[in-house]
Amino acid sequence: MTPLRIAIIGAGIAGLACARRLQRSGVAIQMFDKARRVGGRLSSRRLALREGAALVDHGAQYFTARTPEFLECCTAALAAGAVLPWPGRLDDQRAAALAGSADDVRYLGNPDMNALPRWLAQDLRVHCEAEVCGLRRVADGWTLDFRASPSVGGFDALVVALPAEQTAVLLATAAPALAAEAAAACTAPCWAGLLAFSDSARWPDWWGLRPPTDQPLAWLARSRDGRGLIAHATPAWSRAHLEADPDAVTAALLEAIAALVPGLGQPEVATVHRWRYALVERAAGSAYSYDPALGVAVCGDWRLGPRVELAWTSGHTLGGALAGLLRTSSQA
Ligand SMILES: Cc1cc2nc3c(=O)[nH]c(=O)nc-3n(C[C@H](O)[C@H](O)[C@H](O)COP(=O)(O)OP(=O)(O)OC[C@H]3O[C@@H](n4cnc5c(N)ncnc54)[C@H](O)[C@@H]3O)c2cc1C
Repeated sequence: MTPLRIAIIGAGIAGLACARRLQRSGVAIQMFDKARRVGGRLSSRRLALREGAALVDHGAQYFTARTPEFLECCTAALAAGAVLPWPGRLDDQRAAALAGSADDVRYLGNPDMNALPRWLAQDLRVHCEAEVCGLRRVADGWTLDFRASPSVGGFDALVVALPAEQTAVLLATAAPALAAEAAAACTAPCWAGLLAFSDSARWPDWWGLRPPTDQPLAWLARSRDGRGLIAHATPAWSRAHLEADPDAVTAALLEAIAALVPGLGQPEVATVHRWRYALVERAAGSAYSYDPALGVAVCGDWRLGPRVELAWTSGHTLGGALAGLLRTSSQA
């Protein structure tokens, strides 16, 4: 019997979790991602210094594992060397303000944030630099159109694992009801300031802090190699400055960091990264949606909330459900 063919658009943690579960149940998966590599918002950047480089995690800082399923995934990734326990210590005064419990186990990718997605993707067929810009349902199933390469067709079903706003655009014509669900969710932007220092002697002794709420910064952390700092602006500040000139944003974030950490000194490198879709503010409230008449499903962090674990849970749950549903319909 020919295996069912499913295309998954988006190889972030949600798409990868879905793909792994589907592939295990015998479905032929192809994944497509517009970026140069898998992982989406689990990402790190190397900032070149005169001597060496600083590695900064400019998206997710660490991730918690609160459910047995994700804990099992993280334990296997730990054994494979793809994650480490987060070595950080949070600023004591503000630790109480952190979401979740102080007992949470926190992980980070090893050697960079992208390592967990790379490990999840190792047996999957993933096409990177493949930006999907259109979806068409023709006689032999779904066809994907790409911005810069020929179309690929013949898929029995589609999984869209993108941020809500991008899901709404991509599905507007192909699956309007799912597009409307995505349009009702909301993801806040985030300007991230990335600093690298040649001299880390005056470093604070915490790894991460949440500044008081009247600040433009929501989060400040040192990089894993102790050579950099990462600052995340609040959703409100990021929204208000979304289209601002990056040099002006760099200057404003530097000023805010200097106010929080007096005597830090001049960084050798200071730059910014804009996440247009960073943290979910309004989630759909269920792990996934599936339209059986169209054969289109959606998952991603916007289903459950703004965390790596919730994105993984969304994809993993969809993968399990879809494997069962497709098996039943192919036997009918
Ligand atoms: C600044 C910041 C800080 C964060 N901090 C934390 C934290 O400390 N702890 C935590 O748990 N979570 C944190 N998060 C949230 C966490 O990173 C996300 O919730 C999670 O990674 C989302 O995964 P996803 O698979 O749903 O989406 P994504 O990771 O966004 O994956 C979507 C993928 O789709 C691809 N794509 C988009 N459009 C197309 C297209 N048209 N065609 C093909 N591919 C496309 C993208 O390239 C991307 O790889 C943070 C996020 C940000 C940005």
